[in-house]
Amino acid sequence: MADNESLYRRACEVTPGGVSSPVRSFSSVSSVSSGSSVGATPYFVARAEGASVWDVEGRRYLDYVQSWGASILGHAHPAVVEAVSAAAALGTSYGAPTEAEVLLAEAVRRRVPSCEMVRLVSSGTEATMSAIRAARGFTGRDRILKFAGCYHGHSDALLAGGGSGVATLGLPGSAGVPAEAVAQTVVAPFNQVPEIGTEVACVIVEPVGANMGLVAPAPGFLEGLRAGCDQAGALLIFDEVITGFRLGPGGAQERYGVVPDLSTFGKVLGGGLPLAAFGGRRDIMEVLAPVGPVYQAGTLSGNPLATAAGLAVLALLDDAAYTMLAGRAADLSTLLGQVFEEAGVAAQVPVVGPLMGLFFAGAPVVDYDGARASAANGVYARFFGAMLARGVALPPSPYEAMFPSLAHSRDDVERTADLARAAIATL
Ligand SMILES: *Cc1c(COP(=O)(O)O)cnc(C)c1O
Repeated sequence: MADNESLYRRACEVTPGGVSSPVRSFSSVSSVSSGSSVGATPYFVARAEGASVWDVEGRRYLDYVQSWGASILGHAHPAVVEAVSAAAALGTSYGAPTEAEVLLAEAVRRRVPSCEMVRLVSSGTEATMSAIRAARGFTGRDRILKFAGCYHGHSDALLAGGGSGVATLGLPGSAGVPAEAVAQTVVAPFNQVPEIGTEVACVIVEPVGANMGLVAPAPGFLEGLRAGCDQAGALLIFDEVITGFRLGPGGAQERYGVVPDLSTFGKVLGGGLPLAAFGGRRDIMEVLAPVGPVYQAGTLSGNPLATAAGLAVLALLDDAAYTMLAGRAADLSTLLGQVFEEAGVAAQVPVVGPLMGLFFAGAPVVDYDGARASAANGVYARFFGAMLARGVALPPSPYEAMFPSLAHSRDDVERTADLARAAIATL
């Protein structure tokens, strides 16, 4: 029987830091600095179901990571398992178009009317990278504007001032990125409308900041970006990789009533399989090959297992599901807020629909500087460890949001609050 410790040791021998993606590492929530020390050992998942994951030692965790929100129905939902199994029996990839790709693109367009056309890709990184290329091709301009603390995947031009793992690991951007690759990237503070010049091809933003903890858009911020882009002839891109199909059928653009030119999706849309998408106005999307001059491609794009999973998930996300999800997040936020208040611990538990964040800070966090100040006090890291010891898996970084799923019951939420009370008492 494999155990976490020995697997982690072996993993560190064959892959950097023992993980396939740095956000899975416990390095930022561990008090032990050496890479392979006990405190930094992550749980290795053997299986998952509903709101729970089990590690290779048979230990069960109530899971608030949920594949960073990809498992919105909870893990191993029978409808998804069945759809993927049925699709697998028909072949796993063809290199030719399928009906499911058409159905999924239509399903996106029905829910997000600004996406007149959609292209399927395999990761959120590809979606944002391709949307940027389309925007540059369409406008004939090079400059892009992004916001500090927003994460748009790990392509060169978008790593500057990134949230998520870039923030967790304290990287200013990344080594290995040539200066020329980011020379056309301007980073502005989140929640302040920047000056947008006529050299700007596009402004890309997470309409709700969900990779620096959770930071809602200030009133007027998204509207201001829309107006500024219109004035400059720049395109507005909403990176809805987290918010898409989570805040509601139409994502953040529906919730806030601001219509972007291009949108990117991932996570929920793939139902836990490698699938993402970008879409937008027909005249912009038609710059893409084979219609237009902007090249973009993918061997596994629109993969039949992934489209089957995505269609199965979207079919189950009705109004009742969204109401329930938002209710769970609100309950959890309220209960945790009470726990921290009783304990005299300064904490903010922001909620936007079904998304929840947690900052150990005395005042609401509105930007990346605030998120960084909160992370720096180290309380999150200790709280994470105390919760994990009690069987609750929170994101292993203060810069990530929490993802209650449809499988999290009211009981689960109350249990989380009870365990948080016990955990906070030990800090
Ligand atoms: C996760 C994420 C991405 C990157 O998606 P990957 O599938 O990990 O490449 C991009 N943008 C946002 C907002 C994300 O949360």
